[in-house]
Amino acid sequence: MKKVYTSSDNILIGFLKGILEDQNIHILVKNEMLLGAVGEIPPIEVWPEIWVMEDRDETIAKTLIEQAVSPVKWQREWQCPSCGEWIESQFSECWKCNSSRPQNC
Ligand SMILES: [Zn+2]
Repeated sequence: MKKVYTSSDNILIGFLKGILEDQNIHILVKNEMLLGAVGEIPPIEVWPEIWVMEDRDETIAKTLIEQAVSPVKWQREWQCPSCGEWIESQFSECWKCNSSRPQNC
């Protein structure tokens, strides 16, 4: 067995579990039942963990998780530093004042 992901976000863990199970990857979620109420941050040692049952599934599972997690960051809007307008992530320039997207967004 290999641990492929851990997060304090129980909803994210559930989401990833569904993705991996859809690909017929046998997984085990540890610490899932130890979480408290919604919104409560558990201590780090009881964060839910996703494990793959077969070591050979480790790479594909990590790739699937990476693909599933990264769009969430990518789709974030960014705020124009010149005029304060919020711009959708697919645009690299402000539609209002033509400022370029800052590097750190
Ligand atoms: Zn602007």
